[in-house]
Amino acid sequence: MPIGVAHPPLSTEALIIGGGPAGLAAAIALRQRGIDCTVVEAREIAIDKACGEGLMPDSRETLARLGVTLQASDGFLFRGIRFSNAAHSVHARFPEAAGIGVRRPRLHMLLTERARQTGATLLFNSRVQLPANEHATRDRDGYQTATVNVEPIRFRWLIGADGQASSVRRWAGLEDVKKCSMRYGFRTHYQVSPWSEYVEVHWGPKGQLYVTPVGDESVCVVYITRDPRCNRANVLAEFPEVAAHLHGAEIASQQRGAVTATRKLRSVATSSVALIGDASGSADAITGEGLAISFRQALALADSIAAGSLDYYRAEHSGLSRLAHTMGALMLTMDGWPALQDRALCTLAHNPAVFRELLHAHMGHRRLPAVVLRRAAGFGWRLLIQGAPA
Ligand SMILES: Cc1cc2nc3c(=O)[nH]c(=O)nc-3n(C[C@H](O)[C@H](O)[C@H](O)COP(=O)(O)OP(=O)(O)OC[C@H]3O[C@@H](n4cnc5c(N)ncnc54)[C@H](O)[C@@H]3O)c2cc1C
Repeated sequence: MPIGVAHPPLSTEALIIGGGPAGLAAAIALRQRGIDCTVVEAREIAIDKACGEGLMPDSRETLARLGVTLQASDGFLFRGIRFSNAAHSVHARFPEAAGIGVRRPRLHMLLTERARQTGATLLFNSRVQLPANEHATRDRDGYQTATVNVEPIRFRWLIGADGQASSVRRWAGLEDVKKCSMRYGFRTHYQVSPWSEYVEVHWGPKGQLYVTPVGDESVCVVYITRDPRCNRANVLAEFPEVAAHLHGAEIASQQRGAVTATRKLRSVATSSVALIGDASGSADAITGEGLAISFRQALALADSIAAGSLDYYRAEHSGLSRLAHTMGALMLTMDGWPALQDRALCTLAHNPAVFRELLHAHMGHRRLPAVVLRRAAGFGWRLLIQGAPA
């Protein structure tokens, strides 16, 4: 056993591979249901990751159900969303509660503390070796044996919370996708007072720059593009409004990049293996819903395991991210068609009520089909004839 590496328990009901937000949320939800679990994470706390770091109000709400209540002092409260491009701008406030921008290491620390408090076993800086395959021999109690830090551990359920490139997904034969497309995100923090109480999404010709306030003196800036070879040094030149705000500000964090995938799997669970978080599919980062989806999945997964089967989780899973996928598809259509993007932003800027209703639908406060039915004809007409005011 390498020095500084923890001993795994001899046996656990649920073995969770990956201790990012999804794995820790799953551990908390399981412990809240009284189910024993062990998380194996390859990295050390507190884990950083390229992320917009914005938790929408629904994400905060679900997190509170997991016992993590984010305070204003954990980050920076934001009140709504603003979309803009070089010519047009539109914003809307959230219906009730605020969202919050929180640095990933802070969020990771809070989730870790809560998971420990609930009694989950957490093994950071640790390695797992799974049995030869999912159908490898089980003992009388239906348990299989894996190796963690070269020591054996028995488990009944295996949970893959190991992110976009999940090896558990491959191991369990759950790689079959209905849909998969990739974009690339690059994150930088700047030391500057937030200039807006909104998360700003700036639409450019090749991607979006979005800005989340994450502290009194800190903003998180993420550029998302389809082009993995984009010249990052020149990105701000395409967004002069943001560049003016950041002029002279110090870069406050190591720059990081990550893939953001729109991925839908045919199935997210076998009879004893469940995928959660990005391992189980994801909506594009522009939706700002990745974390909220993981937290909702964690609660559903714990209910399912408490009932003794993964059927409930399998049935619920796609519904938990349907809205994010629909909104993501709308925004990716705008991303792919710059002329449509400009017209849509122009039309929204002159009809902010439509933007507000769409945002409220995105938050689940209105039904998206009802908004579309009510607004589509008028909006489509304005979009077609002029991309201008009614
Ligand atoms: C550019 C970008 C911007 C984003 N912006 C937002 C946003 O503003 N708001 C939002 O809600 N979401 C956002 N997201 C999405 C969000 O970051 C993800 O949905 C979230 O990180 C998913 O958490 P996860 O735990 O599933 O995966 P991850 O955060 O990737 O965690 C997986 C963990 O598994 C560990 N692991 C992997 N393999 C193994 C192994 N074999 N053994 C042990 N450990 C392993 C990794 O070390 C990692 O810690 C963004 C994503 C990107 C890429």
